[in-house]
Amino acid sequence: SIPLSFFAGIGAASQNGILIKGGNYLDALNDASTVVFDKTGTLTKGVFSVTQILPADGWTAEKLLETAAHAELHSNHPIAVSIRKAYGKNPDSARLTQYAEIAGQGIKIKFDGKIVLAGNAKMFAAEKVSLPDSVFSNPPDGTVIYLAVNQKFAGALVIADEIKPDSQQAIAGLNKLGLRDIVMLTGDNKNSARKIAAALGIPKVYAELLPQEKVERLEALSQSGGKTIFVGDGINDAPVLAASDVGVAMGGVGSDAAIEAADIVLMTDEPSKLSAALRIARLTRRIVW
Ligand code: ADP
Ligand code: MG
Repeated sequence: SIPLSFFAGIGAASQNGILIKGGNYLDALNDASTVVFDKTGTLTKGVFSVTQILPADGWTAEKLLETAAHAELHSNHPIAVSIRKAYGKNPDSARLTQYAEIAGQGIKIKFDGKIVLAGNAKMFAAEKVSLPDSVFSNPPDGTVIYLAVNQKFAGALVIADEIKPDSQQAIAGLNKLGLRDIVMLTGDNKNSARKIAAALGIPKVYAELLPQEKVERLEALSQSGGKTIFVGDGINDAPVLAASDVGVAMGGVGSDAAIEAADIVLMTDEPSKLSAALRIARLTRRIVW
């Protein structure tokens, strides 16, 4: 039978906007030694804005943005939302056919009968489309979306996200609780990942990971002993949520599938609520004993 104090712990958590799906997760929180965060939508707001439009020769900024907005019409990734917002008009779905969204890479679609790619360097390597050496004079400050039409590079967009003000507090709270093995996993490029990890004081970062590679990385981290907590927004990371000992999802931005797959849901999307959950778990154990 479940000790009564588990109910007290779950109740205290729910009053703080933390939904814990069972008393066993309070135990698992107490046994955790590693906390792994997703970046986009978890530590950052996941609300991007387009900061640079870099058309290739023969392209204009307007044409490039129109192509990108059409490519991103059917995606609900935060990247897609920002590109449609920058375009400002309603893309015409009648001009689109053969849509594919490749998790951790980008979009492949036919637009006006031509094959359009909108994604990262990994996608361009997989599709064997070469990128010019001279796209940027300096490493860009943000996430880069490359575009190609009929296998030919058409330009790039740079989009920038912001760190959630609460993320600083989240990391500080974990340090205070003695949880120092803090890791960030992301599908984003190394430059943008390192910048965010450095700003937050996160010691370990793994970037440019596909969803399956995030699972493999999490499993490798679990080998080191204690239980692993994974915190994500659920976009492209539902498999990692399921693979971790304690999967924590953002309740506001998170998809229904992520909320379903998670063991704990943070209703307010504030990562610092994880420290609150850990504190409640520790108090709950003290009451049991
Ligand atoms: P994160 O791990 O930061 O949450 P994701 O796994 O969701 O990121 O995405 C990883 C990378 O895949 C993005 O940084 C982007 O380069 C690319 N990508 C994912 N979805 C899209 C999309 N809809 N359009 C363009 N690029 C995308
Ligand atoms: Mg994400």
